[in-house]
Amino acid sequence: MQRPMQRIYIPHLTKDPSKTRTIEVHDYLSGLETLTPVKGRIQVQHRGNFLEVSAQAEAIITLNCHRCLQNYNARVQVDTSEFIWLQDPQPEEYAEEVEVSFDDLVETLPPQGHFEPAKWLYEQFCLAIPQRQLCDQTCEGIANPLTSDETSTETDQRWAALSALKQQLSD
Ligand SMILES: [Zn+2]
Repeated sequence: MQRPMQRIYIPHLTKDPSKTRTIEVHDYLSGLETLTPVKGRIQVQHRGNFLEVSAQAEAIITLNCHRCLQNYNARVQVDTSEFIWLQDPQPEEYAEEVEVSFDDLVETLPPQGHFEPAKWLYEQFCLAIPQRQLCDQTCEGIANPLTSDETSTETDQRWAALSALKQQLSD
């Protein structure tokens, strides 16, 4: 039995009548800490000079609230599709010609190479994790200790002791 997240030898895709491979995902991803296994599916279609890869997947991930610094669990979902151009690393003179059409943001793979679903999906999850992590939209963050009554009384007492000391020294 084939491991579902095993890498795919790209030329093999062209031998399938639909040129498409669907991968059911129910697995922990290497490098991604999740409370639950990542569940979903990836579809890889060979379209001649590029691969069309799409995924719908989700997992529960423990995040850290940027306001109150408490951990909380959130459902992170990936629903994306991407083109991966199939081209061998270009010799320099040819690379100049295609400079305009391929910028560095476009992913490429060699046509005789492998597509790694687990690695690709890991990258998609990294992009899907929110930049601004809040346990709750109404999270009020950490109570400021200096504004709470109890602490300000303590502070007052310490200041009082200090000024008494100063008084003694100046006497
Ligand atoms: Zn919070």
